[in-house]
Amino acid sequence: MIKISLAKGDGIGPEIMDATLNILNAAGADLTFEEIEVGEKVYLSGNSTGISDEAWESIRRNKVLLKAPITTPQGGGYKSLNVTMRKTLGLYSNVRPCRSLHPFVTTKHPEMDVVIIRENEEDLYAGIEHQQTDEVVQCLKLISRPGCEKIVTYAFEYAKKYGRKKVTCFTKDNIMKQTDGLFHQVFDEVAARYPEIENEHWIVDIGSALLADSPEDFDVIVMPNLYGDVVSDIAAQITGSVGLAGSANIGQECAMFEAIHGSAPDIAGKDVANPSGLINGAVMMLNHIGQSDVAEKIQNAWLRTIEDGVHTNDIYDPIMSTKRVGTKAFAEAVIANLGNKPKQLPAVIFEDNTPLVLPKYQRKPSRQKQIVGVDLFVDWNGYDANILAKELQKLNNEELELSMITNRGIKVWPNGFEETFCTDHWRCRYTAKEGKELSKEKVVEVLHAALQNGIDAIKTENLYTFDGVRGYSLGQGQ
Ligand code: NAD
Repeated sequence: MIKISLAKGDGIGPEIMDATLNILNAAGADLTFEEIEVGEKVYLSGNSTGISDEAWESIRRNKVLLKAPITTPQGGGYKSLNVTMRKTLGLYSNVRPCRSLHPFVTTKHPEMDVVIIRENEEDLYAGIEHQQTDEVVQCLKLISRPGCEKIVTYAFEYAKKYGRKKVTCFTKDNIMKQTDGLFHQVFDEVAARYPEIENEHWIVDIGSALLADSPEDFDVIVMPNLYGDVVSDIAAQITGSVGLAGSANIGQECAMFEAIHGSAPDIAGKDVANPSGLINGAVMMLNHIGQSDVAEKIQNAWLRTIEDGVHTNDIYDPIMSTKRVGTKAFAEAVIANLGNKPKQLPAVIFEDNTPLVLPKYQRKPSRQKQIVGVDLFVDWNGYDANILAKELQKLNNEELELSMITNRGIKVWPNGFEETFCTDHWRCRYTAKEGKELSKEKVVEVLHAALQNGIDAIKTENLYTFDGVRGYSLGQGQ
């Protein structure tokens, strides 16, 4: 018997979890559950992380968590528990299959069968945000080579194992050349190791538009965290309802299974929520722990129930549905169908659905890193770049000189445009003088000089090359 940590969540969480547990029990899943308290109650008891030490211990001991959605209270500095869990437990891969159930669930996309593989630990989800000036706040977008390699390799291994034909990558590397550029570059490198699987890349905006229009053209799609969050909700919704899709969060040691939707407080406690997302999450969990026979039985019974037209309110259609049911009655209908297979939709066969085992990330040899300048960020509400440049040139030293000022990334000095709207947040670039080897002392000297000259320096970013390749973006218009 395998012990699983279990969180019933908030909002519709307890209802859909009870429905899912009834199905798991009736199907003969060989499981015991250790219930943990996470979410709204824990937050409101004064724990701003939403999870207690005992709950962490349970998850780390059992390695697998089945979790219903939770509510993050608004305001008050509460950190998202989902993000904390995914990152703390190293659950780097988020797998979200979105498949049409045509003609039984109304959808404009009858042929859709897409798996979104979302990077789960990095990107703007680092949650490192600062107010830097009166007018400007920032959020750091962190993308790492190990992070990209792990998720892209996962996507190709997933495609290989499940007989998928194509892996598509979505990024915005035409704009974010360093961060999304790295993701795309790693995608190309990894794709070359899988010549039998087709690969392609789309800029995320047009890629998402094509997905919404013709999802049948896509198979597996891999992307950074934020795009994956947005695109997987869209993908689930266009199959018929956001309430249908399950989600697996997979790491080297632990795994967490859930529905992709949230706690839906608008329909909580009414016995109307669709438990299918969590049921499908539980099916992925059963495969993960090697109980594929039970997973298969539940998935086929669920498909048959959908085919029978027994539908919750979110997918109810007067023509295709035969019965509008609540959460409990839907689960009872699935239980009554255990042992049955769908007649028209393809029945699933889970022969080898054991977890993907990927090798541990092998670190690359370090590259030669050389400092070539510094960006000094300045808070100044004079709004005229030429005046600011005069002040900032006083900070030049033997090795460094002011070469550019940008405002929100747009070059405003030298040769800025009057039309450019400026805020009080200036990025002032000092680069090594021609033929000079730059020392870190001279970089620090710029900061000292700023202090002495009454310049309000917010922060600095060193400019580096790696094996001679520029490791920073140019100013827009530079
Ligand atoms: P949501 O997914 O909870 O709801 C969006 C809409 O979809 C609502 O109209 C809701 O009624 C409907 N819906 C969602 N699940 C459904 C289901 N199973 N059956 C029928 N209809 C369903 O998104 P939201 O309203 O933006 O967020 C509500 C709360 O959930 C927030 O506190 C948010 O932080 C949290 N949240 C949690 C998770 C998670 O725990 N994994 C994920 C997303 C959002």
